[in-house]
Amino acid sequence: MIKYHLITYGCQMNKSDSERIVSVLEKSGFKSTTQDRADILILNLCSVRQSAIDRVWGILRKTKNQTVILTGCILPADKQKFQNKVDLILDIKDLPRWPEKFKIKNSIPDRIGDEIKNFPEVHPDYFSINPDHSSKFEAYVPIMTGCNNFCAYCAVPYTRGREVSRPVEDIIQEVHTLIIQGYKLIILLGQNVNSYKSKISNFSLFERSLAEGQFLISNKISNFKFQISKNTSVNFPTLLKLISRIPGDYWLSFLTSHPKDLSDELINCFKECEHLIPYLHLPLQSGSNKILKAMNRNYTATDYVKLIKQVKQIKPMVAVSTDIIVGFPSETKKEFEATAKLMKKIKFDMAYLAQYSPRPGTAAAKLKDNVLATEKARRRSALNEILKKTALNNNKKMVGKRIEVLIEKCNNKNECLGKTKNFKDVKINVAPAFRQEKIRPKGRSYTIKKDLIGQFAKVKITKANAWNLEGKLII
Ligand code: SF4
Repeated sequence: MIKYHLITYGCQMNKSDSERIVSVLEKSGFKSTTQDRADILILNLCSVRQSAIDRVWGILRKTKNQTVILTGCILPADKQKFQNKVDLILDIKDLPRWPEKFKIKNSIPDRIGDEIKNFPEVHPDYFSINPDHSSKFEAYVPIMTGCNNFCAYCAVPYTRGREVSRPVEDIIQEVHTLIIQGYKLIILLGQNVNSYKSKISNFSLFERSLAEGQFLISNKISNFKFQISKNTSVNFPTLLKLISRIPGDYWLSFLTSHPKDLSDELINCFKECEHLIPYLHLPLQSGSNKILKAMNRNYTATDYVKLIKQVKQIKPMVAVSTDIIVGFPSETKKEFEATAKLMKKIKFDMAYLAQYSPRPGTAAAKLKDNVLATEKARRRSALNEILKKTALNNNKKMVGKRIEVLIEKCNNKNECLGKTKNFKDVKINVAPAFRQEKIRPKGRSYTIKKDLIGQFAKVKITKANAWNLEGKLII
């Protein structure tokens, strides 16, 4: 039996890819093990950040007598550097054909190669692979891959290629199955979900209703009316509306949006879609119009502020997180100050702050990386201080509230960790009585430990910190 160890460095998309990698490998007879016992080491990484590449070099230095396979979003220039240092570099889009590719690669040691020869090719395409979800209650569902936007600093269009949207029916079926299985949080995933576009072509899931142009999602999913004609394009807001009509006890969210594509129709979904949680991740990247233009982002700081205002009008409790890059080529102190000012104005709940590093092959890599590393670190830390204050002030507004929380972890003491509907982490104090349950099989009474993990629970928020909340379980 071939033993493998999978290491993932990257964003949610890479983590979602890893769930599909595990599925293909396990179906092909591989078994997961620790890094030191593995015959095959699979590194799924993202070239978007230099830090991931540096970590791979660190692993390769320590690896002996193991077959190393590299995959993920890897830039051509990085691929070239790794070419002679690893056994195989595989494209994630080719995942269904990986076992076949293993067979033809001479560098796979004979012992492994012989076993691989027996593996079947199991799936027609990437999206048709059923992922092996790492969680039993939270799932990422990819709805598209690739990107057409070519932001100047970004490697994704080169590593993932152009946008490809997944068929509507496949997405609905996957989400529905997850809900039936008891999943509580479904996150639709794509580099820019806002530009999702597909057609309903497989009408086995849909039945024509009495009125022309209306279809019912059949009994296989649930009965609900939805006005849509054959071959009409389904955009992202429509997809959200379709999914959120699937009955069940679940939260729905999405990642990631591009401000230029955040339409009124999509913003209205926060009001119209019952299951859509009040959380929006909207990358700002910079508060300076000059830098936004140089980044090829196609919106201005004013556009961004307007969008946030609009979202907050529709959903006042919405929590907003963002991505910001400091030290983009030629970013002056004044331009950085524009970002700092905007951060204070918008009052983000969370921000993922990155110091610019050039990615080979991107448009920005041709520009002079002229902001000193020490200055980038200073700018990042200044933004972090602003974020700490705004996040804390936002969190303070939740103190005293009784809210629904999804419990994610519990320890042996009386403490659990969970997520609020607007995606904030909560440390929860649980009275011992809440962790016990009485059962009465055959008339006898037993007390067992109640499994709260993966359940919704009512929590009273008692304290706000910058990066999380604290509360106590009340139901
Ligand atoms: S929208 Fe821009 S930053 Fe996002 S994946 Fe596409 S190119 Fe990269």
